[in-house]
Amino acid sequence: KDSNIEDFFKELDSEQRRAVMESNGKSVVIAGPGSGKTRVITYKIAYLLLNGVMPSEILLVTFTRAAAREMIERAQIVTKKDLSDMMAGTFHHVCNLLLRKYGSSIGLKSNFTILDEEDAKDLMKIARSRYVTSKQMNKAFPTHSELYSIYSYMVNTFLTPYEVVIKRAKRWIQVVDVIEKVFQEYALEKERQNVLDYDDLLLKTLQMLEGNEELRRRISSRFKWILVDEFQDTNILQLKIVQHLSEVHGNLFVVADDAQSIYSFRGARFENVKEVMDGANVFKIQTNYRSTDKIVELVNSMIPRNSVPKKLRAIRTSVQKPIVVNTYDHFDEAYFVAQRINEIVDEGFDYSDIAVLYRAHAHSLELQLELTKRNIPFKVLSGLRFTETAHVKDVVAFLKILLNPYDVISWMRVLKLVDNVGNVTAEKIISRITSESNEEKSPLDLFLEMKIKSSNVENLKSAIFNSIDKAPSFQIKNFYEQFYQDILEYHYTDFRDREEDIERLIEMASYYDNVEDFLNDILISEDVRTNESNDFSDDKGKVTLTTIHQAKGLEWKVVFVIGVNPGDFPHFLALKDNTLDEEERLFYVAITRAKDILYITHSTLPRREYFYNSFNSDKQIDRDFVKDIPRDLAEFWKVR
Ligand code: ATP
Ligand code: MG
Repeated sequence: KDSNIEDFFKELDSEQRRAVMESNGKSVVIAGPGSGKTRVITYKIAYLLLNGVMPSEILLVTFTRAAAREMIERAQIVTKKDLSDMMAGTFHHVCNLLLRKYGSSIGLKSNFTILDEEDAKDLMKIARSRYVTSKQMNKAFPTHSELYSIYSYMVNTFLTPYEVVIKRAKRWIQVVDVIEKVFQEYALEKERQNVLDYDDLLLKTLQMLEGNEELRRRISSRFKWILVDEFQDTNILQLKIVQHLSEVHGNLFVVADDAQSIYSFRGARFENVKEVMDGANVFKIQTNYRSTDKIVELVNSMIPRNSVPKKLRAIRTSVQKPIVVNTYDHFDEAYFVAQRINEIVDEGFDYSDIAVLYRAHAHSLELQLELTKRNIPFKVLSGLRFTETAHVKDVVAFLKILLNPYDVISWMRVLKLVDNVGNVTAEKIISRITSESNEEKSPLDLFLEMKIKSSNVENLKSAIFNSIDKAPSFQIKNFYEQFYQDILEYHYTDFRDREEDIERLIEMASYYDNVEDFLNDILISEDVRTNESNDFSDDKGKVTLTTIHQAKGLEWKVVFVIGVNPGDFPHFLALKDNTLDEEERLFYVAITRAKDILYITHSTLPRREYFYNSFNSDKQIDRDFVKDIPRDLAEFWKVR
């Protein structure tokens, strides 16, 4: 045991080691990017395990599930222990698991289904249509998407609708009463249908913990240790949840960097870190292990305003300064990046060593074309998630109605696939089968008994009939073979690709024997959609394209930050919403992802949207990150 511990401590410096060994009770590691915060959490887990803590007594919360998997893998290698009993994942994932298990205490049925963002917006649309006439709809009222963001922000910040509107959407102040009614309707409808949206996963967990002291202590006594990465981006709900969960043992270990707080638009607040710091052990790490000294020098000169001043110390040296590249327009920019990627790979780097980061997904489209043209393999981290694509969602909707036959949005989705069934008919069918259902007859039974004029409704019925009480992979097969295949073939020219996705889904489902577990796992995982990448050479890896938000916590040898033009980045909306600080932190996150080489590209001619936005705004965007870069800390290239 001792040699084991000694071995792995070689992987930590003295500051990191202290953070791992001397953190009992409440502890906060506060340190800059690339200083090994994530590594410290990983080794803290290993340390606990080697000191007799059981995997089931540890809760690890990370920003993505992929991050959790990676950390567990590492801890597994170090400790040679089986960690499958450890609860780990994002807040949403963890809350979902807790609710399935204990949610009956607040009246939740364990077969609740989860609305993803698109589903939730659809439901908001229904709620909205009950209060707003179609005439009003067109102008004097927020769209269902806007309503959803206001609602979500409200839930995540504990503000009232009125306060959110004042803060984020002043123009709707006149209709805030109606907005409140729509929200009440939306919430009621979720209850009737036994569905939860993403925010509910947090909110209901909190309600469950606060509503029942005995249960709270029971759950909390299970978690001897709670560890949270990226704590600067937690919101008030998440703070309260971890506080409750750590109530019995009091061992809460979080790591954070205030300068990398980039989710305040979703209610994240740095005050959470300050709150945990109160009465906690605080650890600092000064060394940056990720980037070369030349990159770190630039990083040190770009510390976002209003963040705790800290200077990173580099240990890796290099002669290559960061390179700032000016092109004429964003087509030239895409051309430059693609060409440079080829040269870098010729110099011996792998495609997978390279990432391109941007402020908004739309800024990557020219580059995607250019990369495709040159057969450069890439994957898009920020594309749609696998389970959010239309055809996968159709299949998932079918599974959801089998699990929870009161899920209206899923019924809508399935019924609208049937020919001759539009919105109106679908609504009629759903309202009939849900209102007439009782203990003996579920909505599924009632649907099977209904007579509906349509050539393929019989196919749907037999798919349902044959799927009840079957394993999820059989349910998908039934749905596909008896009903969906014809529809897919008829509607899509890229039918083969979509069929492959369904096959993949069947394969994924084959590891589960009940549909509930399967849906739990796929619906809130952040898995990358692979279809958007082009597979030329799997073994050589792929260039990563991602928004900066999704790049949090990750690192690559070579990083391109593209589109650093006023209006694109900083984003024009930041000016309107007064969030330039957050844009600065985003830029800081972006440039700190690079290990060896950093390119920052910008173009002289702005995008078309820029003109549009600046004509429609009373303020101009004059903030230019490139101008902030000290001349002696980078090379400046102009390529034409
Ligand atoms: P971020 O703020 O971006 O999330 P972080 O503080 O979590 O960064 P890590 O990702 O844990 O930093 O570490 C950054 C890099 O430095 C990783 O490649 C990691 O393996 C390496 N590293 C961390 N600590 C050490 C160390 N003591 N010796 C050598 N390499 C280290
Ligand atoms: Mg990290």
